[in-house]
Amino acid sequence: MNETKPVARVLIVGAGPTGMVLALWLARLGVAVRIIDKTASPGTTSRALAVQIRTLELYRQLGIANQVTAHGHWVETVNLWVAGRKTARLGFGAAGNDFSAYPGPIIYPQDEHEKMLVDELASVGVIVERCCELLDFAEIKGQVSARVRGANGVEESVVVDYIAGCDGAHSRVREVLNIGFPGGTYEHLFYVADIEGRGEPVNGELHVALDTNDFLAVFPMAKAGTVRLVGTVRQAPDDAHQSLSWDDVSQRVVQWLHLEVIKVNWLSTYRVHHRVAQQFRKGRAFLLGDAAHIHSPAGGQGMNTGIGDAVNLAWKLAAVLQARGRDALLDTYEPERIAFARRLVKSTDRGFREVTSSNWLARRVRLDLVPVVAPMALHFRVVRRFMLRTISQLLVSYPASALSEGRAGAVRAGQRLPWVRMSVEAEDNFAPLSSLDWQVHVYGVPSAELSEACLARRLPLHAFAWQAEAMRAGFTRDAAYLVRPDGYIALIRVMGRAADLLSYLDRHGIVARGSR
Ligand SMILES: Cc1cc2nc3c(=O)[nH]c(=O)nc-3n(C[C@H](O)[C@H](O)[C@H](O)COP(=O)(O)OP(=O)(O)OC[C@H]3O[C@@H](n4cnc5c(N)ncnc54)[C@H](O)[C@@H]3O)c2cc1C
Repeated sequence: MNETKPVARVLIVGAGPTGMVLALWLARLGVAVRIIDKTASPGTTSRALAVQIRTLELYRQLGIANQVTAHGHWVETVNLWVAGRKTARLGFGAAGNDFSAYPGPIIYPQDEHEKMLVDELASVGVIVERCCELLDFAEIKGQVSARVRGANGVEESVVVDYIAGCDGAHSRVREVLNIGFPGGTYEHLFYVADIEGRGEPVNGELHVALDTNDFLAVFPMAKAGTVRLVGTVRQAPDDAHQSLSWDDVSQRVVQWLHLEVIKVNWLSTYRVHHRVAQQFRKGRAFLLGDAAHIHSPAGGQGMNTGIGDAVNLAWKLAAVLQARGRDALLDTYEPERIAFARRLVKSTDRGFREVTSSNWLARRVRLDLVPVVAPMALHFRVVRRFMLRTISQLLVSYPASALSEGRAGAVRAGQRLPWVRMSVEAEDNFAPLSSLDWQVHVYGVPSAELSEACLARRLPLHAFAWQAEAMRAGFTRDAAYLVRPDGYIALIRVMGRAADLLSYLDRHGIVARGSR
């Protein structure tokens, strides 16, 4: 018997990490998608290395975090070198376990990462359509009609409810929508190289080296004796970009780090841009990932931010397509994600300029101030924790969103659900998030009216015994926390009153999946 494939509701353009995570989350929620990519195969170069804690938490919801943790390399120690001298060595150890099930960021090269996502997609019946290019699209009568050219060169018209532009920095979707991509390009040329080497910087730790005119970051990789270098190529003519080799890159810092390069496995040079699209949505089309924002790769944020966009949009699209949420849910995608993208681009821009600027003042700050102030500041646990939480994207929050209501103690709606390691129950409070569904959490005892309301709406209610860990995480005893499918808090009510919960669900038209 021939199985007929369900008609796709969403066309995903681009099978980089952003597009594939969007496809995977939608598929898990039962939404039929098509995902196309104009290239013949997934990327074969390592590019984004760092997978942040928040991404691991989102992957845990999908049941794929273990694929990353089993093959990646944890970053536990960071060394700061200034003008040939090691000025700080900071052990983060498993600091992340104070606020997450994951100890810290993990190094997992993008090529392996993409292969894993391709396999996960195949396991849920979604095959990336290769050599398939989006040419054009238009919104017609409440749908999107797209023109794509397939592997055989034949053009096809694809009609879907929504189109997602996950098609990278040179996005065709953004171009068709005529959305501006303001920002700029840094003057310097940078290189990325995966090398085999010897010396102290190849000790499994992260090394950041600053110099008068140079900058070099050495990232550990899973295979012993291999590292990723990210550094500057100075005074390169505009057209040198294509032809530069290892011999052309700046060797000064490499030499004073006593880094012996045995073999260069991959080298790429690139200009770094910092741009944010003026809109992330126009009608039935959305922009995500590099199509929406690009910045310096130095902080290891780019790919992770694209994955965050994908998750933010996926559950909203699924809810609207399955009549489990009002259309207005989709209006919250842009304000939630563009605000974070703008902050991120601004902060990476500032940091990147300070690290690479050749201006006199910036050089003095880099060479005289940083070696003194950085070790002092990082000596304090509170500073280290704040840094780790920021880099890990655990502080991304949506307090101003139309979906966020209420606060209790230090916890505000819009924040990621604080993580609690349960000393009584076997698991932590993130385990139920794998349902990808709305849910209510109570730390303590839920009121009878709240329990009844959840039962009536078939909204899963998770009551965790009150314990010191929950208090430390910032929860208020017996308060009700309505949690979104992506693990952010939507509504907080201290008295656990059911009327407010019901009114919230009705206003947003929310129907839990558990109730279908
Ligand atoms: C050298 C380098 C190092 C980096 N290091 C880091 C790092 O350490 N940490 C980090 O977080 N990020 C890093 N990044 C950034 C990271 O690689 C990107 O942020 C990430 O790849 C973005 O994913 P994406 O899926 O949004 O876009 P992409 O990975 O760019 O994927 C877009 C896809 O869309 C396809 N496509 C484009 N146009 C069309 C069309 N018309 N039709 C069909 N398909 C189309 C492309 O073929 C491509 O496969 C680095 C980038 C580079 C270049």
